[in-house]
Amino acid sequence: MPRPVLVQKFGGTSLGTPAGITRVGRRIAASQRAGYDVVVVVSAMGDSTDRLLTLASRVAKEPAARELDLLLSTGEGVSAPLVSMALHELGVPAVSLLGFQAGIQTDRRHAKARIVGLTPARIERELAAGRVVVVAGFQGIGDEMEVTTLGRGGSDTTAVAIAAALKARACEIFTDVRGIYTADPRFVPSARLLRRIAYPEMLELASAGARVMHPRAVEIAEAFSMELHVRSSFHAGPGTIICSEEAIMEDRNRVRGVAHEEHVARLSVVGVPDRPGIAAAIFAPLAEADIAADVIVQTASHEGVTDMSFTVSSADGPQAERILQGVARDIGARTVLSQNGLAKVSVVGSGIRGQPGVAATMFRALSERRINIEMISTSEVRITCIIDADRVKDAVAALHEAFKL
Ligand code: ADP
Ligand code: ASP
Ligand code: MG
Repeated sequence: MPRPVLVQKFGGTSLGTPAGITRVGRRIAASQRAGYDVVVVVSAMGDSTDRLLTLASRVAKEPAARELDLLLSTGEGVSAPLVSMALHELGVPAVSLLGFQAGIQTDRRHAKARIVGLTPARIERELAAGRVVVVAGFQGIGDEMEVTTLGRGGSDTTAVAIAAALKARACEIFTDVRGIYTADPRFVPSARLLRRIAYPEMLELASAGARVMHPRAVEIAEAFSMELHVRSSFHAGPGTIICSEEAIMEDRNRVRGVAHEEHVARLSVVGVPDRPGIAAAIFAPLAEADIAADVIVQTASHEGVTDMSFTVSSADGPQAERILQGVARDIGARTVLSQNGLAKVSVVGSGIRGQPGVAATMFRALSERRINIEMISTSEVRITCIIDADRVKDAVAALHEAFKL
């Protein structure tokens, strides 16, 4: 009888120190003793990815994307062998693998690569030989053997992709909080731990900035019906199960959580001649540069001209502005404006569907705290407001209270 496969992912905070790595090793050893074939996916130690980014910015104003990927991939290249060594020390046979050795193939979009294939033959061989396999998360290999990374927080996606490919019995995401809360527990001390959350709601929370799960990881989990267990690597006890909507009985028709994202920039193309094809002319070059435009607002046309505003992450701001300046010249727009220092707050829940009262409650809660709403966007299960970044903490607290979360 083959043993069931268990995938366990450990985030950077769980691996911040040598003692932390040994502690993680003991946890993995216990899972192996319990009868599982264990695949471990690790992030870089502590804040080492941030430190590598800072290092790059000291050397170059805009480091080349492929060099940056090669640099950032070294963070996980350090933690994976260390976890493997810690297991050896505990008498557990283990082997560490970089992304390419684990068979993780991606496209070549540096810094936001997507996994396009996974050949788990090597992982399977190692498991069959009785070893724990420790995989460096967040990285893969594109064509011509180019090292790629999956975007910040991407180790979650590595873990879920491997769990799906190996048809794992379970996939556990160990992090520094007990699970998924109704809001970032670091922001809202009264946030409540959710026992279960459905894939679509988790995806919206993650896309709206709740960094506890990488959005792509949630998409893959849903596509393969892989339940995820998000739990604390510091405390025992169950965390949150991310599962299908059908599997959730309680709390169906309501707002489930509040998410926020700082570091948002707004770009406006002002005085755009109002004719068909203008939106495409503005957004196609951004898409080509892989810049996601988020909340989009077009003002009502006045004397044949209109303004088009949208948000991007602050990191994409300078490049987006450069692209738009070219576009503005081509289409005869008056000017391009950019504003930094904004933030996004969102309420998420399947209960938003068909309930206009939710938007009204959200806007009232913000206005009562005199928080100005700069832009608004909605989806079936999410309402997002763009506000001043200085007010984001107040806003999240106000919304958490207003929806009695
Ligand atoms: P890891 O290193 O384990 O991947 P991350 O920092 O990526 O950890 O994600 C965990 C963090 O996500 C938590 O420390 C918490 O501050 C933040 N977070 C944001 N929103 C939520 C939420 N709704 N529930 C839980 N954590 C959240
Ligand atoms: N180390 C990477 C990051 O900091 C990937 C991850 O932690 O999941 O974004
Ligand atoms: Mg993370």
